[in-house]
Amino acid sequence: MVAVLKPTVTDEQVKNLTAWLEGRGLTVHISKGESYTILGLIGDTSKIDTELLEGLEMVDSVKRISEPFKSANRKFHPDDTVVEVGGVRIGGPHFCVMAGPCSVESPEQILSIAESVRASGAAVLRGGAFKPRTSPYDFQGLRADGIELLLEAKRRTGMPIITEIMNAAHLPMFEQVDIIQVGARNMQNFELLKELGALDKPVMLKRGLANTLQELLMSAEYIMAGGNRNVILCERGIRTFETFTRNTLDISAIPALRELTHLPVVVDPSHATGAARFVLPMAMASAAAGAHGLLIEVHNDPKNALCDGAQSLTPEQFAAVTEKVGKIRQAML
Ligand code: PEP
Ligand code: MN
Repeated sequence: MVAVLKPTVTDEQVKNLTAWLEGRGLTVHISKGESYTILGLIGDTSKIDTELLEGLEMVDSVKRISEPFKSANRKFHPDDTVVEVGGVRIGGPHFCVMAGPCSVESPEQILSIAESVRASGAAVLRGGAFKPRTSPYDFQGLRADGIELLLEAKRRTGMPIITEIMNAAHLPMFEQVDIIQVGARNMQNFELLKELGALDKPVMLKRGLANTLQELLMSAEYIMAGGNRNVILCERGIRTFETFTRNTLDISAIPALRELTHLPVVVDPSHATGAARFVLPMAMASAAAGAHGLLIEVHNDPKNALCDGAQSLTPEQFAAVTEKVGKIRQAML
């Protein structure tokens, strides 16, 4: 339930009303906008008399909401959330490009890619150290050594880094990682999400292969319920009957999520399509549809990449993407 208070409400009135609602077993989430104060009421609101609440002098309107996600809900928090990491902002008016290889392979590889993507406008360096592979016989990532190489690239380039976690027991290794990525396969690993909720480090949550937007938001809710509000959502394509592309990029998820939630929405056109030649058009479409950023796989030698070479862009192709996406964003002003 949401109660919108009148612009004339005093701090004292907010305090008294909050205490009264808390006395009825509810948790009250207060959101102060420019003119309106909004109270998000979490818990069993069935015993609250809406008409009584609406009749109070300081209350403008009361609305029962059916969505089970509260912290991520735009109704409780009308302003866009901006996640800040190492001087980089993601969300609101800030557009952020994250780029790098599918997996970290060697010191030379990650450093060379980091330098080239930075030169073309990427603000965050991606690279997998722990890789969720369908086959146990495929390259599993350099694991702890991969994180060390990412940290070295961070020191040399100044770029914040994002990398995927698969097991909460690995958290100590992620201490200096700037953004923790939860991959599509772990979107509903609720115990992992709870552990991440106890941190104050940004988490990028990727949509599961067969998950609805509501399920994605409920997973974000797991992280936020623990107190960590630095959540970034990522649309990375879903599994449909179409097999020509690796997945089907759900472009409509972008405006839909922007309506439903205040959290930043980033798109990964690489895993969505599985083909380097489709990354540019899908990146442009994502920017045009209102994405707050992109996550793109780039490799200095895609043909010899240990993972996802077919969808990886060369540094030159990546430079063309940032340039064209910049033009789309310019045209939207
Ligand atoms: C990745 O970004 O490295 C990755 C494995 O993506 P996803 O979880 O979306 O498949
Ligand atoms: Mn990949």
